[in-house]
Amino acid sequence: MSNTNEKQSFATRAVHAGNGIDTNTGAIKHAITMANSYVLPYDATTLNWSDADVNIYTRNGGANQGYLQEKLASLEGGEDCVVLASGVAALSGLFFALLKSGDHVIFSSVTYIAVYRLLNELFNNKFNIETTIVDTTDIDAVKAAIRPNTKLIHIETPGNPTLNVTDIKAIADLAHEHNILLSCDNTFASPYNQRPCELGADFTVESLTKYINGHGDAMGGAIIGKKEYLDIIRAQSQVNLGATISPMNAWLIMRGSVTLPLRMKKHNENAQAVAEYLESLPCTSFVAYPGLKSSKYYELAKEQMPNGCGGVFSFGLKADHDTINKFISELKMIVSAVSLGHEGSLIVFLGEDDERQYLYPEEFHNGFMRFSVGLEDAEDIIADLDQALRKSGILK
Ligand SMILES: *Cc1c(COP(=O)(O)O)cnc(C)c1O
Repeated sequence: MSNTNEKQSFATRAVHAGNGIDTNTGAIKHAITMANSYVLPYDATTLNWSDADVNIYTRNGGANQGYLQEKLASLEGGEDCVVLASGVAALSGLFFALLKSGDHVIFSSVTYIAVYRLLNELFNNKFNIETTIVDTTDIDAVKAAIRPNTKLIHIETPGNPTLNVTDIKAIADLAHEHNILLSCDNTFASPYNQRPCELGADFTVESLTKYINGHGDAMGGAIIGKKEYLDIIRAQSQVNLGATISPMNAWLIMRGSVTLPLRMKKHNENAQAVAEYLESLPCTSFVAYPGLKSSKYYELAKEQMPNGCGGVFSFGLKADHDTINKFISELKMIVSAVSLGHEGSLIVFLGEDDERQYLYPEEFHNGFMRFSVGLEDAEDIIADLDQALRKSGILK
């Protein structure tokens, strides 16, 4: 156990939670324990080989994943945490453990693609789980979608890729009035900007691949919530589905997360500056970022994410498909790649024929860019965008 307590600040806990002295060597950091198996007790026949969170076999539990779980439970303000191999492993692990045939799920119309695939296609078709896709920024629409068999509401805020903002507290109150569980994907905000469990969500789910690791070199996912549920998720989804995180990745994410508060502060400031720059240009058709005063989510975002709105936004350009490809190819520093929350700025052009386009606002229908603003200085990011917009002829 580490020497932190919940009275200490977020930044202090980001440094110390889950860390401790290595008692074998005196090293001031926990080592990477690259071992598949842990020594058995005197009478091994007393063990249940499927026990979760016991260091028997690394799929059941391991040293490095345990340290990271302790840190993330602390940072998200939850009772317990399970870390898994990826954000999608966390999402599928949560759905798999909680839902059974005949249950109904409501989920946000704007979510990470895997949520749509898992719930609306796989769970719906294979396991007879009913699904309703709702614009969860509209509380009345969520209320109207509730059925007697609704088991779970899953929201994502800010949503990928439209950056819409759902009122976590309002949905949590509504869900609990009807005995429904609420899970919230917190990947875009990170616990520095927003802590869904503290706002009433039963589960915070997130990709550690993004901001929490922050360096674009490891994948992981986490579910934070009450121990009574997380024990079920561990037993069913970790031990039996086997989406265990590797000790190496857990260690990398642990190291990356130390600087989360410093990085998020810079991501927030940079995204605000770059979004304002793009909004000021005549060649942009829209910029979707809840930190902009023009956003209809501005007031709610300020309340729900008091430190800032994160480093991702989407924008459109008044240019045709080929000209946009030319613009992307002219970028010198900003890299055309998926993922987000890395140290470097990343851009991805999402075309006109996404099958979920109909769920997005009108301005997204002609293709748009999702931009993950990195930790470079904002002036350099703006300079790169500016020269590429000019070279491609979009900005005169
Ligand atoms: C990337 C992402 C995920 C999936 O995480 P992986 O680590 O890539 O599996 C889930 N939700 C959101 C909002 C994401 O951006």
